[in-house]
Amino acid sequence: MSGHPRVSPHEPDWAALRARFPLLARQVHGKPLVYFDSANTSQKPDAVIAAVDDFYRRHNANVSRAVHQLGNEATEAYEGARTKLARFINARRDEIVLTSGTTFAINLVAYSWAQPRLKPGDVILLTRMEHHANIVPWQLVAARCGARIEVVELLPDGTLDPEMLHEKLTGAVKLFALTHTSNVLGTVNPVRDICREARRRGIVTLVDGSQAVPHRAVDVAAIGCDFYAFTGHKLCGPTGTGALWARREHLEAMPPFLGGGEMIKEVRFEGTVYNDPPHRFEAGTPNIAGFAGLGAAVDFLEGVGMQAIHAREAQLLAHLTGELDHIDGLRLFGRAPDKAAVVSFAIDGVHSHDLATLLDLEGVAVRSGQHCAHPLLQWLGVGTTCRASLAFYNTHEEIDAFIAALRKVRALLA
Ligand code: PLP
Repeated sequence: MSGHPRVSPHEPDWAALRARFPLLARQVHGKPLVYFDSANTSQKPDAVIAAVDDFYRRHNANVSRAVHQLGNEATEAYEGARTKLARFINARRDEIVLTSGTTFAINLVAYSWAQPRLKPGDVILLTRMEHHANIVPWQLVAARCGARIEVVELLPDGTLDPEMLHEKLTGAVKLFALTHTSNVLGTVNPVRDICREARRRGIVTLVDGSQAVPHRAVDVAAIGCDFYAFTGHKLCGPTGTGALWARREHLEAMPPFLGGGEMIKEVRFEGTVYNDPPHRFEAGTPNIAGFAGLGAAVDFLEGVGMQAIHAREAQLLAHLTGELDHIDGLRLFGRAPDKAAVVSFAIDGVHSHDLATLLDLEGVAVRSGQHCAHPLLQWLGVGTTCRASLAFYNTHEEIDAFIAALRKVRALLA
């Protein structure tokens, strides 16, 4: 497809930005790679790769333990990432706990905030579209403290049922944990309105921002939630990095989750004085090089501009959806008016693993399966789906190549 106009003369040079991602230039099975699996993990720009490389070549030491120069430099890289992440989501830096990812961040809230507070009869409210990382920790904690899990269901377009949402936000609910953006449907939930309504009723909210933070400007102060979790590797950063933002009052009141070095002020056999948040929740040696890389990722994304990224991905999504709608027998799951560039689909009579395997031979990387969202797939009534998930570094030409490959593969499987 040709002739896609630029949105504005001030638009970033997308081709030049794409060229900053070395992996995207490679071939797979002799075909140019079309990487449509960014919801799974994003690719990394040269600046991130260089930051990790530079850390190990020039600065490697442990954090907060040494007075020597390298120790200071390592601490600067690590704490610098905290400062950048805080700025990126409009938070205070002492409210950012650095974690290995969203999974750790949610577990931290489950064990340190929820478990000591919840009582039999209390409700943890979830939605049908949650990732397992925002379901299983709550099941584990609910089983320990006798709380109950309830679920807000969806409308056919993949948005939350507003009436049910309203009804379920009762006084019994102590925590509402919901995703900002669905990793299967692409639905972007109106988290600001939802958190406002929850707060009015005294309900604490946790937002899983894994699929939102990489694709739009996120402002936790404006959202008004209590906890916001996200992961670094979907944000152009290294694996094993992420963060939990929490209101200071919650962090102050939460006991440590893991014990060890870094999270203490003083240790005696008779008892230990814990460190202040956020360090109280960062026991042991962290992924320092990873956070050096994540800091560089934030710089890179801010350089592109999150508004521009959002607009670019909306254009790509419109193109992809328009093309998929012309394929006979293809069912597309998720038609929310506010939707991220995540497109799940199934083709009648074709198993999505077969589809994804043959697409791979054409150089196209899509995910197939249940996307760590079994309850959602059960609701959709399909065993598995294929999922094409895009990022700003993808192109309209890649969408055309994907559609051509899909038509070819489908003819083979029919
Ligand atoms: N939540 C959502 C919506 C996700 O898409 C993912 C990853 O796929 C996670 C949580 C878990 O993230 P991580 O595995 O990085 O902890």
